[in-house]
Amino acid sequence: MLARSHISQGRVILVEHPVVILPAGVKLDASIIVLDEFESQDEPCGAQFLRLNSQVKKKVLTLKDCSATTNASTLAGIFATNALDIKLQVDGGGLRSQEQKYKALFLKTSRCNHSCGPNAVWRFDRLTFTLSLSAVRDIYPGEEITISYINPFLPRHVRRTQLQSKWNFLCHCMHCDVPWTFPGAIAQSDKARHELSTFFKKLPDWEQWCFDEESEHDLIEMHLRAMRMREKEGLEGFRGSGTAGSSRDVAYMKHIDALVMCYGAIADDKEFRKWVNKAREVKLAEGLYSTAHVNVLDMWLREPRKFYVWGWKSII
Ligand SMILES: [Zn+2]
Repeated sequence: MLARSHISQGRVILVEHPVVILPAGVKLDASIIVLDEFESQDEPCGAQFLRLNSQVKKKVLTLKDCSATTNASTLAGIFATNALDIKLQVDGGGLRSQEQKYKALFLKTSRCNHSCGPNAVWRFDRLTFTLSLSAVRDIYPGEEITISYINPFLPRHVRRTQLQSKWNFLCHCMHCDVPWTFPGAIAQSDKARHELSTFFKKLPDWEQWCFDEESEHDLIEMHLRAMRMREKEGLEGFRGSGTAGSSRDVAYMKHIDALVMCYGAIADDKEFRKWVNKAREVKLAEGLYSTAHVNVLDMWLREPRKFYVWGWKSII
């Protein structure tokens, strides 16, 4: 899938409903479902497929089946290749509802290729039953829109093995082909990814940083360094929870919010305005901010001293 126009960081690229959903544990027998002669209504994936309208059916059948040999795509193969992991709340039999894992097939997002430094992330919203695909950095016209099929924090050799075994391809994304650039690049990339995967877990507490004079942590430099590593590794969208394509909190936004807090706390007018502006820009693109929120950010830009923790650290 290629971008036709410039897509700003944070902007929603598309929103879509799933066309087929199955519980995560259901086994599909690929050998019996050959698309050309497909008739079985007993098979769970097939039963849902048959109920789709003909236009949607045609689109499903054009999706890739990475396990197929020539002209032998199966519905099970298409589902296994393209379905994404989602969680739904289901009735727990009179008790509280429970969260269960499902596999869901989406027509558009399924066409996104993989990158170990993807420029988009998807999120599934249970309330609206929709997936939204968002840009985690600016995407330019003609650029391919990519997602990650796997946990991108894993070392290169593990990522490539997983992709090869499940999707039958050897990843040649710019993050996997680093060894030809300079020696030691793989080890450096693996180390950076590992560090980023635990960054927020190991982060010192903001209040401790703010009020503890003895604190040796330079919280600002930690966030700036992590952002530089994210940009280099293409991991702006991933917080480090180990999930594949789905990410509830986009990582770069957490860094931006943290830098606003830190620069406000040390009363650095210039840097505070810079990061509030960045937060404003991204949140407006995300469409998550109401007019009231934007008004608050605008007020901080006009009068930084009204920021609720302004100068807290410098006072101490
Ligand atoms: Zn790769």
